[in-house]
Amino acid sequence: MSEPVPEVIYNRVALIGLGLIAGSMSLAMRRASVAGEITGYARSQATRDTAREIGLVDRVCDTATEAVQNADLVVLAVPVGVMGQVMAEIAPALKSGAVVTDVGSVKKSVLEAVMPHIPEGVHFIGTHPMAGTEHSGPRSGFAELFDNRWCLIVPPEGADEGEVRKLETFWAALGANTERMDPEHHDTVCAVVSHVPHLIAYTMVGVADDLRRVTDQEVIKFSAAGFRDFTRIAASDPTMWRDVFLTNKEAALEILGRFTEELFALQRAIRTGDGDTLHDYFTRTRAIRRGIIEAGQDTDAPDFGRVKKGG
Ligand code: NAP
Repeated sequence: MSEPVPEVIYNRVALIGLGLIAGSMSLAMRRASVAGEITGYARSQATRDTAREIGLVDRVCDTATEAVQNADLVVLAVPVGVMGQVMAEIAPALKSGAVVTDVGSVKKSVLEAVMPHIPEGVHFIGTHPMAGTEHSGPRSGFAELFDNRWCLIVPPEGADEGEVRKLETFWAALGANTERMDPEHHDTVCAVVSHVPHLIAYTMVGVADDLRRVTDQEVIKFSAAGFRDFTRIAASDPTMWRDVFLTNKEAALEILGRFTEELFALQRAIRTGDGDTLHDYFTRTRAIRRGIIEAGQDTDAPDFGRVKKGG
């Protein structure tokens, strides 16, 4: 059976930010042959030099405005705290009919920051690929990052349906499954499945470090999947995660409140020797883990299937 002939979806794609997500998008776009030309820009000379050296995109530009010239799709792949600022900078250079998207982990605040700068005749549609690793920077991307992962599509009110569909087709070509969501719901869902779990990992590793003895070589060696997975998550980019909590404050605090209530309930069960409560709770959570594996969102492997491709 012959492979379907790939079709260019956007003639020119501009990536603003050249880290894990943008780099993986570039490699996945090439794999699927969906972009005519890929341009890119990052804030530091060092990142731009590395991107040039490894040929991460077709053309690395020294300014964001140069990168977006004539672009049909512009991807804002920078920390959520600077989305508005970057959008204001590139706005005058966008061509009419261009689509701007972001890949930020928070949606409500990004929409609020970006929408006032969108020029007449330019479309903005938010997206969030639910895929990542603890690595960052121009060398961290890989083409398979989005394969069989979800990419949430968050169009603002009144978005052009044809452009939303085209962007969904684009993400599907990069390997992702897409689903539409409104910004508030997106931020709550992500607080549960990503943001608060990261905060818990940061806390656990911080506590272990405070206790010093837990970070002894021997303890790390025998920690297997528990503590080691926390340290992996806690190695995630500090700027990105600072911005996530500053911009998804409401939902993160709501979920953290519920988390601490549950933690107190389990603490009480341990203190009072209430084995039934502990057993019931752990049985329920084990079923959730099975559901995630069955849905193809993780593997049963001890490294949680996140071994970095190609190295
Ligand atoms: P990353 O690897 O740290 O890359 C961030 C990039 O943004 C770098 O190239 C950086 O340039 C650039 N940048 C930062 N500030 C800038 C500015 N003011 N102007 C222009 N470029 C700027 O981060 P990432 O993991 O790709 O994350 C990018 C976005 O994707 C974030 O909004 C994050 O919330 C979202 N996201 C991340 C994940 C994940 O797991 N990592 C998953 C889904 C979505 P320099 O290198 O020159 O500093």
